[in-house]
Amino acid sequence: MKFNTKAIHGGQELDPAYGAVMQPIYQTTTYAQSTPGGHKGFEYSRSKNPTRSALENAVASLENGNYGMAFGSGLAAIDAVIKLLNSGDEVISTNDLYGGSYRLFTKIFERFGIKFHFVDMENAANIEKFINANTKLIWVETPTNPMMNIIDLKACASIAKKHNLLLAVDNTFATPYLQRPLDLGADIVMHSATKYLGGHSDVVLGVLAVKDKELAKKLYFIQNASGAVCGPQDSFLVLRGIKTLHIRMQRHCENGRNIAHYLAKHPKIEKVYWPGFEDHPNHAIAIAQMSDFGGMISFTTKGNNYEEAIKMVEKLKIFTLAESLGGVESLAGHPASMTHASIPKEEREKTGVVDSLIRLSVGIEDIDDLIADLEQAIG
Ligand SMILES: *Cc1c(COP(=O)(O)O)cnc(C)c1O
Repeated sequence: MKFNTKAIHGGQELDPAYGAVMQPIYQTTTYAQSTPGGHKGFEYSRSKNPTRSALENAVASLENGNYGMAFGSGLAAIDAVIKLLNSGDEVISTNDLYGGSYRLFTKIFERFGIKFHFVDMENAANIEKFINANTKLIWVETPTNPMMNIIDLKACASIAKKHNLLLAVDNTFATPYLQRPLDLGADIVMHSATKYLGGHSDVVLGVLAVKDKELAKKLYFIQNASGAVCGPQDSFLVLRGIKTLHIRMQRHCENGRNIAHYLAKHPKIEKVYWPGFEDHPNHAIAIAQMSDFGGMISFTTKGNNYEEAIKMVEKLKIFTLAESLGGVESLAGHPASMTHASIPKEEREKTGVVDSLIRLSVGIEDIDDLIADLEQAIG
């Protein structure tokens, strides 16, 4: 099966009870047993629920994995991965990392004796400098947020193999439509399905997919033992979202490409961060590991004025000023005052988050309306 067909049918079976074409929402906690242990594969919905299983199978299929697991949020999925480790273990992570992942690593797991190194992975060879006998996991996010850096997943996988480490990839920004980390040698792929997989900004959910059976067993054990699972309604919504992932992504990419080029030509714009440009520092890697460049774009304005950037995002009418990304509607954010406000100015500017930086999650509206909206806001 090719990708578009998998988005609709991958991992799915017709409902055996009534032939429902869409997986029913099994809003139940428990399942009748004919004799103790005599059940139809489901006992208790923390352990397993048919609607959640359908979603887990769909995600595994899209990522070319063999096993999927769904959780109550993206962070709950990441939490399960880190629980594979023991006190004393070390993790090497991307430095330009989703803020919530950084908070989970440093404020929760460091208290339990796990050590994290935050490393610039644009040159993957940097990773090796931090490997020691305690290193167990490499955690990678690509493209990164909000600077749209690209990290070479094949290079990361070969380092992980060489040192017998697990490689986990947060694939939220790219989605399996653009990039499939398991095919590039990663062991675990993770998504905040809250973003593109759900796609409609109406559900918070996280997923993992893996190829290896032993690794899947360990993660299933953690999923059930820690219990941060998602409910059947939310599983249904993400499953429905996935069925249009390919056509939404096609339009996100098309609109993203148009807006990136529009911004690059605008006299008031200083710099546009989008991996599709030939002069993007990791353009060649982006082309090698992604099938297109997605709908996430960041840009700065000339003069780098904080107040001007805030006025600009306030003036936007079709782009909504909001956190999050990956929905059908276009969103805009100002990292310096929103997602990165808690980081001291000097620190955030080191990674490129300057005062005028604006991040766009380009939606699937008409491109002419989106460009007209940017035009009136930029002035
Ligand atoms: C949103 C996000 C997360 C966290 O997911 P939640 O569903 O909000 O818990 C993790 N990684 C990335 C890249 C994200 O954008």
